[in-house]
Amino acid sequence: MEILYKSTRGHEDKVTASAAILQGLAADGGLFVPERLPEFDKTMEEFSKLSYQETAYEVMKLLLTDFSEEELRSCIRRAYDSKFDTEVIAPLAEVEGTYYLELFHGRTIAFKDMALSILPHLMTTAAKKNHAEGEIVILTATSGDTGKAALAGFADVPGTRIIVFYPKNGVSPIQERQMVTQKGDNTCVVGIHGNFDDAQSGVKKLFGDRELAAWMQERGFRFSSANSINIGRLVPQIVYYVYAYAQLLKEGRIVDGEAINVVVPTGNFGNILAAFYAKNMGLPIAKLICASNDNKVLYDFFRTGVYDRNREFILTSSPSMDILISSNLERLIYRIAGDNAAENSALMEALAGEGRYEITGQMRERLDSFYGNFASQEECAEKIRSLYDKTGYVLDPHTAVASVVCDKYRKETKDGTKTVIASTASPYKFTRSVMSAIDKKYDGMEDFALADELSRLSGVAVPQAIEEIRTAPVLHTAQCEKDGMEQAVKAFLEK
Ligand SMILES: *Cc1c(COP(=O)(O)O)cnc(C)c1O
Repeated sequence: MEILYKSTRGHEDKVTASAAILQGLAADGGLFVPERLPEFDKTMEEFSKLSYQETAYEVMKLLLTDFSEEELRSCIRRAYDSKFDTEVIAPLAEVEGTYYLELFHGRTIAFKDMALSILPHLMTTAAKKNHAEGEIVILTATSGDTGKAALAGFADVPGTRIIVFYPKNGVSPIQERQMVTQKGDNTCVVGIHGNFDDAQSGVKKLFGDRELAAWMQERGFRFSSANSINIGRLVPQIVYYVYAYAQLLKEGRIVDGEAINVVVPTGNFGNILAAFYAKNMGLPIAKLICASNDNKVLYDFFRTGVYDRNREFILTSSPSMDILISSNLERLIYRIAGDNAAENSALMEALAGEGRYEITGQMRERLDSFYGNFASQEECAEKIRSLYDKTGYVLDPHTAVASVVCDKYRKETKDGTKTVIASTASPYKFTRSVMSAIDKKYDGMEDFALADELSRLSGVAVPQAIEEIRTAPVLHTAQCEKDGMEQAVKAFLEK
């Protein structure tokens, strides 16, 4: 059955999946959502016999219904190949009775690779299908990991250019180095003097700027987005929750139909929304546990029903979660409003205007499968150190946020349900915070020396992603002010 996509703000006609991917953000400023969520047409028992790639096909075909089988299989084959350092693509590690779903085995060692390995293929296929004219310009704001994963995905892809804005002082040294050493004539990386929310709002503004759109059109360009506001990011993320469940079943860790909990370290609310979609499509998930760092807007939201971004923006050791405006929450709000675009639009306008909104009691009732909590930097450091001491397993700071919140949830509720923690980054991406958490004596050491030391401690080889930036030359030095983003875009496109 065909699934069409509509905007959460309600002022758009329904479009096909490929058109939604191509467009990124809806023209009325809303996000595209599927008009309904289809049920899986395979049992978990059947899923447990499939490879990651086969699972990806069986899940994605349900939502990307205007892609032919051949198109979809070809995108999947080209995405999930030897770019990943393990054949299973997303392995599960059992540590102290909890399952860490390692989503960092792709080219840039963060979970963004799970979707951004396939997005360029989906997008170029979508352009062909829709006979879209002109070069696609991917405009992206990053809190650190999306930027590199999108650059790696789109570099040298014919018919595309990519521009990435990152907060100049808001990413880890390794994250920054990964981005500024990116090769490819069609790539552009700019550090902005502001935080992630500034970058994200700036990008959203450029998307909505009609004059700029006209300027682009004259020159044969069209914008699209590689951020998780693009439905082409969200759909591939549903896959690994199904795959994880099927693997647990296959290994006899759970019985068929047994519900599991998932814990997701959350920033822009994309990853956990994918888990929510999986649940609604029939995956046995009991609780969706939303883990925040000190920027705990979502924790407050789940506790009180009030979303309030009016607070200090805190730079933490988990920079990819340093976000006060979680874009994808809009898709959840729309859903708990009963797919009511007018009600959602009113709340989003309040957010844009006053920086806050409150949902109704009825909407709150529909959030009963969510639980939110947060972890401080000290708690995360303590978790990294203690888990390493006890088991030798090393967490990155984002996964540590999830792990601490998982402990808090269990303590608070006594719920003994088996749990999968989305492990969103390799500790090698955040060696400075990780090694400092393990032992203060590493504080003075240089980044790449720290990587070697981490390898010695953990027994895990230094990933290729780190090796390749050790000596790579810096190719991008551009910086701009918050209000200089449009100029930066034009400068690159006119080059
Ligand atoms: C992006 C990111 C997150 C947050 O994911 P969202 O989908 O934005 O909620 C968490 N951890 C890491 C390492 C990330 O890169």
